[in-house]
Amino acid sequence: MKVTNVNLDERIHVLKSTSTFMSVIKEIAESGMQEEAFYVLDVGDIVRKHQIWKEKLPRVHPFYAVKCNDSLPVLEVLAAIGVGFDCASKNEINKVLDLGVDTDRIIFANPAKPSSHIRHAESVGVRLMTVDNESELYKIKRIFPSAKIVLRIRCDSELAQCQLGMKFGCDPVYDAPTLLRLAKVLDLDVIGISFHVGSGCQDPPVYNRAIAHSRTLFDLATDIGFKPYLLDLGGGYPGDRGTSIDVFADVINDSLDQYFPSDDVHVIAEPGRFYVASAFTLATCIHSKRVVRANVNDPDKVTHHMYYINDGVYGSFNCLLYDHQHVTPIPLRPGSGKLVPSSIWGPTCDGLDQVVDNVMLHEMELGDWIIFENMGAYTLPVASPFNGFPIPKVHVVADESMWLMLKGALPLTEAHFVVNDIPENIHCGLDISGENVNWENPSIELTTLE
Ligand code: PLP
Repeated sequence: MKVTNVNLDERIHVLKSTSTFMSVIKEIAESGMQEEAFYVLDVGDIVRKHQIWKEKLPRVHPFYAVKCNDSLPVLEVLAAIGVGFDCASKNEINKVLDLGVDTDRIIFANPAKPSSHIRHAESVGVRLMTVDNESELYKIKRIFPSAKIVLRIRCDSELAQCQLGMKFGCDPVYDAPTLLRLAKVLDLDVIGISFHVGSGCQDPPVYNRAIAHSRTLFDLATDIGFKPYLLDLGGGYPGDRGTSIDVFADVINDSLDQYFPSDDVHVIAEPGRFYVASAFTLATCIHSKRVVRANVNDPDKVTHHMYYINDGVYGSFNCLLYDHQHVTPIPLRPGSGKLVPSSIWGPTCDGLDQVVDNVMLHEMELGDWIIFENMGAYTLPVASPFNGFPIPKVHVVADESMWLMLKGALPLTEAHFVVNDIPENIHCGLDISGENVNWENPSIELTTLE
């Protein structure tokens, strides 16, 4: 299905060979027409991540965790390149179904689901769902007895940015066997085991322990009379620029060879930040500044600069509070002179709204821009317009080769693409200048990415 109704903000800017997403940021920021913070999303980065995933983890089919970043272009690109989806709610399910994704490419991976959401899953045909407790088994028995149940066990990483085990996952030794037996008594269909070691995991061997527990439970489930065939490795994989999943992949591939050597078991995972963290770069602008001086007796001695920017912890930088992220400010204009201790603050009237507490920076002025990389994970979906400060808009870019590959596969028409070096007329809509483009140019088959 091609979408013909084009929202100007949703169009993808096709970069000529001389442009990069960084040059786009510079052009927008320095256009003199941009006041608000904005994102640039490089869709090519997402596609490259998928290529890495397929190369490093060939047995593991990714089901992207929608909660991590549910921006439409992200979901459209992932849907087009064949990724499945982990949805946590009725609305996330609908968002993915609206893209034309088949229901068997969706797992409802929230072990504590409101009844109405389970009813909805049944009505639209999403059958795969995770469970980690007795009450949820009874609830599913009542509402959706033919659901395909994946038992979520707990196996925590010792080093994770966000621990999840205190909320979800049953103990694999003490609780899981009881739950499997109860599911059998209730005549439910348990088809596999899942886990989530914790988001932002820095402890790859934990996947070996979790896969070993899963093997034991596959065997027990088989003895009880189930026919388990799905292993779900959850999320946890790093996604920032410069990070790698190589060690994770080595541990996982070895563990799968050891415990699940047969291809009869279908292996999936629910990566979130891996796919999107590095694809989004945030540009913020300094709108106010305070110079802190030593004391009244030495008014020339500056001890600290405080910069106030147009996005903060109630907006994109909620990730500092909720996702325990650390962000690095990169001034767009290279500074000179001496480095001064500095802090960076968000735009709201709340004292909590601090983005960076102490960093050495060259002096900057009002109107200067500060860039933050790796802002794609757990930022936009959580942001609020508190105090009336808007959530930053996303400008989507793709280089020419990526665009040729995507344009046939995305549910879009050529009107969705702006073929230009940089987005023009940022405030008043965007100019389409695609006259020189051969729209008949056959698109590269996306199956090559699979
Ligand atoms: N799956 C589930 C059930 C989650 O709760 C999360 C994140 O909280 C994810 C997947 C994605 O995790 P990550 O972004 O660490 O890959």
